Amino acid sequence: MSAELIDGKSFAAGLRARVAEHVPAFQKVTGRVPGLAVVLVGEDPASAVYVRSKGKATREAGMESFEHRPAANVSQAELLALVDTLNADPAVDGILVQLPLPNHLDAQEVLLRIDPDKDVDGFHPVNAGRLVTGLPGFVPCTPLGCLMLLEDRLGDLSGLDAVVVGRSNIVGKPMAALLTAKSCTVTIAHSRTRNLPHYLRHADIVVAAVGIDHFVQGDWLKPGATVIDVGINRVDGKLTGDVDFDSAASVAGAITPVPGGVGPMTIACLLRNTLVAAHRREGVPLDERAI
Ligand code: NAD
Repeated sequence: MSAELIDGKSFAAGLRARVAEHVPAFQKVTGRVPGLAVVLVGEDPASAVYVRSKGKATREAGMESFEHRPAANVSQAELLALVDTLNADPAVDGILVQLPLPNHLDAQEVLLRIDPDKDVDGFHPVNAGRLVTGLPGFVPCTPLGCLMLLEDRLGDLSGLDAVVVGRSNIVGKPMAALLTAKSCTVTIAHSRTRNLPHYLRHADIVVAAVGIDHFVQGDWLKPGATVIDVGINRVDGKLTGDVDFDSAASVAGAITPVPGGVGPMTIACLLRNTLVAAHRREGVPLDERAI
């Protein structure tokens, strides 16, 4: 292995600490701490683990965590009414509805109901639109975390060639928009892309968000490339990424491990977005770029 490891775990710990540092000053001005409401419908065990760790991280940052756990058979109308209540609650700055929802519920309608200014997941179409048009909004946590790791490693990204593998609304598309805003030349590759190695061979930056374990091979990469592996795949009870780590690490200049790379950044960025939402809602100044 010649690549440097990008330590997302330690970067995320620093980010969480920076978020926590801002909470007392916010409380002094407003008389309350920022609040994040998480809605988990039903008992999906993987979602329950995510929700628990989000709640714990929120409390550790000194913020308030509100957990709502409607039963799996909750109706669409009841769930929308819960979102309306959270939208109207002044103690709630951020609202997150844990996906996936049970099949009888319309997730798109639920996400559309969230007040865009409390949409700390950045999934509302208003925030997607703000991102591509360069307006302040909320950026989905995983691609935001990837961008932070890239800028920490590479500094100014301007002019670099980037390939984002995957075009989902929660990772691939917002990642491409962020890199475009940073003046990269961006290629979005997806399941219909012909000859993916051809594109990767020229990429200074590769972000893999495919959902297929060990998919991106080392001999597809440009020597020295920076490789961000978003994938979380469970294989034989172990977590693996979307990049074939061993072959990629012998060619890349830097690479994120799985676990310990992008994963910890997602929750840290959720806390960051909640802190930002609270300051914007209360009109309390915050240097958002410094967090
Ligand atoms: P998704 O299934 O919505 O999208 C996968 C994308 O990969 C699609 O756009 C598809 O076109 C593309 N794709 C599929 N086969 C391909 C191929 N052969 N060549 C090129 N592209 C191909 O997945 P997602 O929600 O974007 O997640 C992607 C991965 O990231 C998953 O492993 C997921 O678990 C992981 N993830 C991690 C975090 C985190 O916090 N680290 C957050 C979200 C998602």
